[in-house]
This record gives sequence, structure tokens and C-alpha cells, in this order.
Amino acid sequence: MAHDEGIHHEEVTTPEQTADSSRRRFLGQAGLGLLGLGLTGAALAQGVAQTEKPQTPPEEKQPFPPGQRVGWAVVGLGEFALGQVLPALREARKSKLVALVSGSPEKARRVAEQNGVAQRNVYTYQNFDSIRNNPEIDVVYIVLPNGLHAEYTIRAFQAGKHVLTEKPMANTSAEARQMIAAGRAANRKLMVAYRARFEPRHVEVARLTQSRVLGNPRQMIGEFVQNQGSPNQWRLDRELAGGGSLPDIGLYPLNFSRFVTGEEPTEVMGQIYSDPNDPRFREVEDRVAFTMQFPSGVIGQFFSGYSSHRSSRFRVMSERGWADLTPAFAYEGNRLSVGRRVGLQEGTDMREVENKSQFVLEIDEMSSAVLENREPKTPGEEGLRDHLIMEAIYQSARENRAIRLGNLAALTGR
Ligand code: NAD
Repeated sequence: MAHDEGIHHEEVTTPEQTADSSRRRFLGQAGLGLLGLGLTGAALAQGVAQTEKPQTPPEEKQPFPPGQRVGWAVVGLGEFALGQVLPALREARKSKLVALVSGSPEKARRVAEQNGVAQRNVYTYQNFDSIRNNPEIDVVYIVLPNGLHAEYTIRAFQAGKHVLTEKPMANTSAEARQMIAAGRAANRKLMVAYRARFEPRHVEVARLTQSRVLGNPRQMIGEFVQNQGSPNQWRLDRELAGGGSLPDIGLYPLNFSRFVTGEEPTEVMGQIYSDPNDPRFREVEDRVAFTMQFPSGVIGQFFSGYSSHRSSRFRVMSERGWADLTPAFAYEGNRLSVGRRVGLQEGTDMREVENKSQFVLEIDEMSSAVLENREPKTPGEEGLRDHLIMEAIYQSARENRAIRLGNLAALTGR
């Protein structure tokens, strides 16, 4: 089966349908807290919910002139690079694709032609280091199996380029530290491709949670599972993948729980099960359940797995309401709903937010960081923290006890 962290829903309703159905569900409701949830006075008077549609000013939609855009090289032309990264680069405002790196010269030539990349800017893994002589390349985007991220990130820094690396950042926290050190030594920027940080619905859940519009958050629940096909793929090979479902897809609820609370966990517990008779799980784990405890008292319970039909959800439960993403981590079609008591009634409000591509926003964030000479929003230290947390989850499962994390900010030098 082709790996796909996105979930394609034939059954997804259109925004208009969801807005209509939310209006129907909300009929008859009025009361406190609505303004904080984006409901207008007119909607209040009618007792009808109205969804928010924040709009980007037109000037922020205009692409930069090609000469002012940051030049990108994409390393690895696999499923994700071809299906998501190259289309996003075509749509980006501040970024332009200028080079490709691939082990398959025929494919690279074809993809270069389709994407307007000059044939002189097509590299192999062997002559990759000569990108140092190409001033058109500013940023290198590593879209290789996880076990190769550290090597290619360090080589790109040595060639004087900035790096966006796919998640998980590396196989281990030790590799993540080497990547950060190499970026510092080269005085170049390192960003980890946490696409969900740019998903407008995720940003909205973080805003709702941190503004305390729904009261103090108490608990979170999240999952990302999918059925991982053939046993002969790099995702099931420890050296190339680093681990199983936890670093590949469990990382999404793990990272989102830190983003949504704005807190770093203090303690984790993990439980792991893999069927010993399933040939897919000879080297990496299948099912993971993990609990994260945060300083404010919020507790999160999360699941990842490689042997269930695909499913992704995330819910934050707060004193006066909840925010729910179902699906939560799809490439497109994530849906946000908010539930709370209004007056004497319970209500659910489907929230419509501007439908911007998380991939385009992520890529342009890296280009903005380069253009403005600032730290990207998800720097290497962000990936290092997640590796330290995942290593503690594995340790907890091995030793059957809770593991305290120490001060993650201090441990990662920020
Ligand atoms: P893929 O198997 O489709 O592509 C991997 C590419 O790496 C192929 O072009 C392959 O030829 C190349 N490669 C080079 N050396 C290799 C080696 N030794 N073994 C195997 N392949 C080698 O994988 P993918 O799904 O495109 O994943 C690539 C990276 O992107 C991974 O780090 C993955 O975690 C990440 N990813 C991220 C998302 C996301 O939503 N952010 C989604 C999918 C994949």
C-alpha cells in the first residue's frame, strides 16, 4: 500500500453544508460566551450560530517577483515529494523550485521538465555536495527516509545552504543534536517540517485553548493510526525509519499537544504492543498508547498504530467546552467543531476557517525566515524536544513506569 499520511474523504461535506448544518443544530440557542467564539450580535438575536471566515488581505496573496523568491532544492523524489511538496512549491508566494536531487536520473529529468527546473540543476546523491557552487539554491528540503535526514542535512549545511527537513527530524535525539550543531557552525537555518503547525484549524484550536475562551484546558485525546502495507518498505526498517508508528504518525498528536497548550510535558508513560506473528513488525513497533502530563495539570492520552484502518482525531476538553478536529491530521479536509453550553443548552458549532494549504504556508515560513534573517517557527530544537519525548515514551514502555522529562527548554539549549 502506498504510504499516505493524508486522509482522502470521499464523504467530506462542503463548508457550505457544514455551515448550514451547524446553523440548524444551533437554532434556539443564545447566551454567554458567544462573542468570544466569533458569533455576531445579529446571530445572537436570532439565536443562530454563524461561522467565522477570516480572510487574507489581497496583497498578502500576491506572489513575490521570481527574482525575489528564495530558491529551493528538493532532495528525494518519492511519493510525498511528488504528491505534496512540488505542487506546494508551485503555489508558494516567496519560494521557487530551482533544483532537484534524485537517485533516478530518468525520473529527475522528467520531473525537472514538468516543473521548469533547468537540467543543469539536477543532482544525484553522489554529486549532491556540489550544490555549494550553485548560488540559485538557498534552501534544501530533505524528503528522504528518516534515517538519511541527518546525513543530508549536515552535508547541505557544509555546502552553505539552509535546511528544511521532513519529520521525524532524525532517528534519534543524538542525531538531532548533530544537525543543530552543524547548522550553528555553518550559520544557517534549520527547520523541521511540522506541517500541522501551519494548518489554519490547528492554529485556531491553539488560539481557543490558550486564550481560555472555553476555560482552562483539562484533558486532551488524540490519535493517528493507519494500516501500513507491505513488510518490505523502509518505514518498517529500523535503520531507515528510526522506529514504527510513534515517530512516523504518533509524532503528530505528540507535537500538537505541545503547540496547543503552549507547555512542555513534565512526565510521560508509554505502552507498546506489536503482534509477534505479523511480519511487518519484526523491527519496529505497531501500537503505541502514551500519556503526557503538562505543568498546568493538563493530561493528554494519545495513540498511534500501523495496523488499523486510517483514523486521525484530536480533542481538547476544557472547563466550559471542547474543541475537536476530526479528521485532525489529513492533508486536506480537516474539520473543526467546538462544543459548549450556551444558556441552558449544549451546542456544537462547525468552524469554518480560511482554507489555506498547510504545505504552502510551511514552505513560505522557511523562505520568510531566510528573507528576514530570523528563526523559523519550527526550528531544529523543536524536533529535538520531540525526540527526547519519544525516547522517554519508549523507555517508559520498556521499564513499565512513568518517566520524568526534566526541563526540555534547558535540555535543548533554548
Ligand atoms: P518514499 O519512499 O515515497 O520516498 C523516499 C524517497 O527517498 C524515494 O524517492 C527514494 O528513492 C529515496 N531514497 C533515497 N535513498 C533511499 C534509501 N536508501 N532507501 C529508500 N529510499 C531512498 O517516502 P515518502 O513517503 O515520500 O517519505 C519521505 C519523507 O517524508 C519521510 O521522512 C517521511 O516521514 C516524510 N513524510 C512526511 C509527510 C508529511 O505529511 N509531512 C508525509 C509523508 C512522508
